[in-house]
Amino acid sequence: MTARRLVVLGRQGAGKGTQCVRLAADLAVPHVSTGDVLRAAVRQRTNLGLEAKRFIDAGDLVPDEVIVGVVREKLAEPVARNGWLLDGFPRTLPQAEALLDVLGDDGLDVAIDIDVPNDVVVARLSSRRVCESCGWVTSAPDALSVDCAECGGIASRRSDDTPEAIARRLAHYDEEVGPLQAWFADRGLLARVDGNLSPDEVYATIRRLVQGDSVVSGAA
Ligand code: ADP
Repeated sequence: MTARRLVVLGRQGAGKGTQCVRLAADLAVPHVSTGDVLRAAVRQRTNLGLEAKRFIDAGDLVPDEVIVGVVREKLAEPVARNGWLLDGFPRTLPQAEALLDVLGDDGLDVAIDIDVPNDVVVARLSSRRVCESCGWVTSAPDALSVDCAECGGIASRRSDDTPEAIARRLAHYDEEVGPLQAWFADRGLLARVDGNLSPDEVYATIRRLVQGDSVVSGAA
């Protein structure tokens, strides 16, 4: 049976966003990226955005209760009735527990962990430029902003892709997501994918995994 209720884990710069956009389109389920939801809220200056901005810019996590509320609302939308793909959530054990509380015991099909070593993601993030309008991502080590090849907008460095914020985010990731990986593995829900391959190869592995009849904890 094809998995349709998915969590995708992976260090910043692991290619999570790119893979999630493609997978969500293929599965015809909404791609719920908590980072994107928060950044949109910051741009629109909503209460959520005003509250979240200082955490995001410092490379810190937004408080659990805030982000759990955001995800709960997204999963309750009619468009999420037949499945969803969570990108960037859960990030902490309390978030994971809150998620399974909302969903019930059989509510999640699989947590896919895209595994890329730390030194590789530091290099990727330092040169990453993201279009503010359409989310197109490219690598430009020598320029802080470049023209977007998709929509004609500007792709620039994210405000949290500074060297200091990158270091903080990666440190948080290891502290918070390490235990989370074990938590998913204990429940037989974790599937690990080697993310240090080309985007197409990573996608092919994920696609096979999502189509599989069962998910083996820790499977490559
Ligand atoms: P990255 O994975 O590159 O840090 P995201 O786009 O997933 O980027 O998130 C950007 C920022 O949004 C995070 O640094 C954090 O401040 C906030 N954020 C996103 N998801 C969560 C979450 N599940 N819990 C707490 N904060 C979050």
